[in-house]
Amino acid sequence: MRTKAIIASKLIDATQILEKPIILIKNNKITEVGQKGNIDIPKNAEIIEELDSTILPGLVDCHVHFTGSEESKPKLIKEEYETRLINAATNQTKQLLNAGITSVMDTGGLIGLYVRNAVEKGIVEGPRIMAAGRYLSPTGGHGDNQSLPLEWVKEGRPFGWGMDGRLADGVPECMKATREQLRSRVDFIKIVTGGGGGSEIDPAWIPEYTQEEIEAITGIAHDWGRKVMAHCYFPESIRRTVNGGVDIVTHGNRADDETIKLMKKKGTQIVPTMSVYERIHELRPESKASEMYDTIFTNIKKLYEAGLTLAVGTDTMGGIFPFGGSTLELELYVEKVGLSPFEALSIGTLNGIKVMGKEDKLGTIETGKYADLVMIQDDPLEDIKCLQDKDKIKYVLKNGKAVKNTL
Ligand SMILES: [Zn+2]
Repeated sequence: MRTKAIIASKLIDATQILEKPIILIKNNKITEVGQKGNIDIPKNAEIIEELDSTILPGLVDCHVHFTGSEESKPKLIKEEYETRLINAATNQTKQLLNAGITSVMDTGGLIGLYVRNAVEKGIVEGPRIMAAGRYLSPTGGHGDNQSLPLEWVKEGRPFGWGMDGRLADGVPECMKATREQLRSRVDFIKIVTGGGGGSEIDPAWIPEYTQEEIEAITGIAHDWGRKVMAHCYFPESIRRTVNGGVDIVTHGNRADDETIKLMKKKGTQIVPTMSVYERIHELRPESKASEMYDTIFTNIKKLYEAGLTLAVGTDTMGGIFPFGGSTLELELYVEKVGLSPFEALSIGTLNGIKVMGKEDKLGTIETGKYADLVMIQDDPLEDIKCLQDKDKIKYVLKNGKAVKNTL
């Protein structure tokens, strides 16, 4: 493959802001990063030049669910499972790449696991996907599709959101369920340790799982070198989750001072999901999930100020939470949480890669790393919202290959 030379007016990653950058890419790796005058562009290089544009590392979303659904209230999805699978693999993957998102974590659902396999095999084009497969939940918990008969949920019929909870109660069953997930080659384990924002029978403050059950799951996952991510909101469930050895808390926006201190001490990473609440609040201000809205931004600021590693996550599921919408999360970090655009971009790139555990290979634009990057015809430091304009995202490279090019 010819060397690519990418020339822009600015480069921003979590480590630097570089004016007039030139980035050389050979095959799937970044081979040199410099500026006009201090870098030799090989004679036969393919030149990709766009002045007034900014280069960023590929964007990261650490909380999506490939449901393949376009329904807005998908409690009981009527669309066929097979059709949704095709939609997830062909359209939802494209929507992510089109928005400059080159790495995602699918935090629960078999469809995400199948799409990951199809992308890895080169059957479809998509972002890098780390998939959790079925997420583990106690009976009656947030991962139990409570509107369906229990027997259907236990059988794992794919009628729900496509998130496909695996019910597991008690230490032996939690251990077995974790091993089942590992057997199906998941990249990490997702568990539900507290109620849900919009749950019918288990409000978000309810702790789900005992610390012993959580320890049983994390013990096995860590033996296999896999991280565990837990869904929870309130202090008691966060306390059990973190003491139980969980690596990543998602949501977590009701943490109090004590649990923030605990997360800091244990090095727990956190993936808040603000944009889902922003959209619910916009569309259905009377809904239960909307009750979380008022405190979410001040609480997330506390988490950031405590020095925790925060990463972007959206809880995108399709429908009213369209794929490729994680750039709204960046706007909320700036406009509502009060961070600088540079801080928000670091959260949306390198921090997400840290949560995925791939910071030695991705997350910044440095020599030797894989070439995942985005060229946008604007400056997100001036206006973070520009990232939401897909037409301004002109060029997206994943693993050295152009997956979007409208230059
Ligand atoms: Zn989720």
